[in-house]
Amino acid sequence: MSKIRALVAGNWKMNGLLQTLDEARAVNTALRSGGQAERVDVMICPPAPLIHPLAQSVGDGPMQVGAQDCHAQASGAHTGDIAAEMLADAGAHAVIVGHSERRADHGEDDATVAAKAAAAHRAGLTAIICVGETREERDAGRTMAVVEAQVRGSLPAGITAANTVLAYEPVWAIGTGLTPSEADVAEVHAGLRALLVTLAGDEGRGMRLLYGGSVKPANAAALMAVPDVNGALVGGASLKAGDLLGIVGAYD
Ligand code: PEP
Repeated sequence: MSKIRALVAGNWKMNGLLQTLDEARAVNTALRSGGQAERVDVMICPPAPLIHPLAQSVGDGPMQVGAQDCHAQASGAHTGDIAAEMLADAGAHAVIVGHSERRADHGEDDATVAAKAAAAHRAGLTAIICVGETREERDAGRTMAVVEAQVRGSLPAGITAANTVLAYEPVWAIGTGLTPSEADVAEVHAGLRALLVTLAGDEGRGMRLLYGGSVKPANAAALMAVPDVNGALVGGASLKAGDLLGIVGAYD
């Protein structure tokens, strides 16, 4: 099996206006002139209104554009929701589903996440599926049981190494500046890899497994060097071109 190509994906969450796209454009320009794009894929997932203008301005890349959520249906009476097909039409290559903020703020359960991931696949998008334990679950020694149950419930049929990315994001590490130890990340990622192989064979062996939760330039190299970590899902540090490029620099 060839080496898994890394992905650094930025999740802007509900941050950014049209002018903030200058940061994304700066990332794209730097990737064009630097050599990083030969080693690592870089993506920014802005708020939905910024997807099309960002896709237009990065043109043929190398930066990719993603979205932060989609509805499971392709169209219909779902006020305020956005279909995966619409995201693809706007220029997105991928969509994050099952982020812990969606699970907590919108009551999304594993079945909902699986339906959204299936919708992403239907629309030709890569589904970036998020799982992760809370602080209480970690303290109770339930981390692996929790994330394995989330993976079993959140991955739809037909997952491949190309159409799915799994992101391990401990809820307590998101936006807090806290990260698990490298040994803890290694343990979870090894367990997730084994589960992916059980569920999807060689496709699971080749699937990208991202770590997310307070990744920044100062800790990226150490976290990205952990076995079975094939990149990062980055929140706060993806809003500034210099910080995101600093994280991408872990692959220099
Ligand atoms: C996230 O929300 O996906 C995330 C990883 O956030 P942060 O990097 O800010 O912890």
